[in-house]
Amino acid sequence: MASQKKISRFDDLIFDNRFLRELPADPETVNNRRQVFGACYSRVLPTKVADSQTVAYAREVAELLDLDSDICGSDDFTQVFVGNRLLPGMDPYATCYGGHQFGNWAGQLGDGRAINLGEVVNHRGEHWMLQLKGAGSTPYSRNADGLAVLRSSVREFLCSEAMHHLGVPTTRALSLILTGEEVIRDMFYSGDPKPEPGAVICRVAPSFTRFGSFQIFAARGEIELMKKLLDYTIRTDFPHLGEPSLDVYLKWFEEVCRRTAEMIVHWQRVGFVHGVMNTDNMSILGLTIDYGPYGWLENYDPNWTPNTTDAADRRYRFGNQPQIAFWNLGQLANAIYPLIEQVEPLQQAINAYKDTFEQGWQTMVAAKLGLNTYDPAIDNELNTELLILLQLVETDMTIFYRKLALLVMAVELSDEALMTPLMEAYYVPGQITDDYKARLGNWLRSYIRRVQASGIADAERIKTMNAANPKYVLRNYLAQLAIDKAEHGDFSMVNELLELLRHPYNEQPGKEAFALKRPDWARQRPGCSMLSCSS
Ligand code: AMP
Ligand code: MG
Repeated sequence: MASQKKISRFDDLIFDNRFLRELPADPETVNNRRQVFGACYSRVLPTKVADSQTVAYAREVAELLDLDSDICGSDDFTQVFVGNRLLPGMDPYATCYGGHQFGNWAGQLGDGRAINLGEVVNHRGEHWMLQLKGAGSTPYSRNADGLAVLRSSVREFLCSEAMHHLGVPTTRALSLILTGEEVIRDMFYSGDPKPEPGAVICRVAPSFTRFGSFQIFAARGEIELMKKLLDYTIRTDFPHLGEPSLDVYLKWFEEVCRRTAEMIVHWQRVGFVHGVMNTDNMSILGLTIDYGPYGWLENYDPNWTPNTTDAADRRYRFGNQPQIAFWNLGQLANAIYPLIEQVEPLQQAINAYKDTFEQGWQTMVAAKLGLNTYDPAIDNELNTELLILLQLVETDMTIFYRKLALLVMAVELSDEALMTPLMEAYYVPGQITDDYKARLGNWLRSYIRRVQASGIADAERIKTMNAANPKYVLRNYLAQLAIDKAEHGDFSMVNELLELLRHPYNEQPGKEAFALKRPDWARQRPGCSMLSCSS
C-alpha cells in the first residue's frame, strides 16, 4: 500500500480554490439577500455559534482529506467544521444557481444554507470541496434562515455515508455537529412551529455544481458566464474529455447523461426515493445530492414518495425517478443549447441516458436475481411478474430480495415449502391468499428453471445476489430512532448506524434487528413514513 501522509495539524491542510480563482465573483460582499447577476458565487462567512459539539464523523471521509483520526475527536475539529474557525487557505462562499422545482422554473435559488470553505488537495492530488450546510444565511437564503435542524442533518449525514457504502454515487459527509442553538421549524407546515436543536454538517464532494448552476445563466441570457462555468467544469472535473470545444461540450453532456442514468439505476436497485428531484438537486457529476425528504422503500410500491409536500402529484415517486431524471436532463440540454445551437446532436446525446439506463437496469435486475446475463426474451416477463407479485401483498423489498437468495432450488417442492425463506418479508401475513401462494409458487418455479437453464451454480447465484441486494439499509424508522436519541443528547445510535451501514451487504451477526421490517408503530409516525421539505 502506498504510504499515506497523515495530517495531524489542521493548519497543514492544503487548499487550492480553483472555483474561486477561475470564475467571476459577486463584487458585493455585504451578506444581504439579493439577486446576484454576472457572478458564479458570493463570498460569505459562516455564522459563529457559541456551544458546539461533535455528534459523529466519518473516518473514511477524514481519510480522503488525509486527516489523522486523532484530530477528528478534537475541539479544533468541532470549531473548524461548525464554521467557527477558518483555516489558512479557506475562503468561504455561496454559489449561485437556479432550478425547476416540481416542474416549474423557480429563478434564482443558490446556496441558501450551504457555504463552501474551499478545496482541499489530498496526497493523491485530488481536490475535495468542503461545504458546510446549516452554517448561516447567505445572499441566496431568500426568506429562510440559512440553518439546519439536527433531525435533517442526522438524516443527510447517515444517508450520504450509507449510500457510499452501498456503491451508490453520492456526495459524502465528514461531520455532524450540534450548534447548541435553537432553530424554529414547522415540521409539517401545519401552523405549529417549534424550537429544534440546530446542526451543521460538512459535506464533501469533488464539486457541488448542479444542473441549475447552468440553467440560471441561460435563463438570464448570461451565455458568456455559462460558457465560463462549462469550460471550467470540463477542465477540472472532466479533463479526460480534452480541451473545451463544441464537440467536447456534446461529449460532456453525454457523459452527464450516462452518469445520471447510472445513479438512477442504483437508486432503483436499493429502493431509494430521493423525494425532491428538482433540477437544483441534480449533480453534474451524477452524485446523489441534497438529502431532504428522501426515504427507503419498505413495502415495494412504485407509487410511494415520502415527501408530503409532493403528496398530491407524487411527481418524485419511486417509479417515476427514471423519467424525471430524463426530464431534468432535457432542461440541462435547453440551458446549454445556446453554446451548441443544434438540436440534433443534443438529442443524440440525451439518448445516451435511455441507452445507459436500459442497459444498466437490465444488468441490475439480472444481478438482483443472481443471473449472469439479462435475456429480454425470458427475463422481461419474469421480472414484470415479480414486480406485480411484490405489490399484490405488502412485501418488504429489501428482505424479499435478500431472502430470495436462500430459495431451495427444487421445482417439485410445494408452494408453501418454496415460500418458507420469504415469509419474513410480508407485513400482513393475512393478505396471503391461496391464489397468491399459487401465483408466487409458479413464479418461483419459473425462476428456478431460468437459473437452472443458465447453468449458474447456486453458490455463484447467492454471491451475485448478496452483492446486489443489501441486507442493511437506512430504514426510515431507524433514522428516526437515532434522531429521537440524539435529540436527547444520546449519540450512540447515530454512531451505531454509521458503523452498521459501512458493510450493508454483510450478514453482521448480532445486528439482525436492524434488518427487520418496519415495526407497526412506524407505519404512520411522522419522520418514519412521512417527511416534508422542512429541514
Ligand atoms: P432544497 O429543496 O432543500 O434543495 O432547497 C431549495 C433551495 O432553498 C436551495 O436554494 C436551498 O439553499 C434553499 N434553502 C432550503 N432551506 C433553507 C434554509 N433553511 N435557509 C436558507 N435557504 C434554504
Ligand atoms: Mg437543494
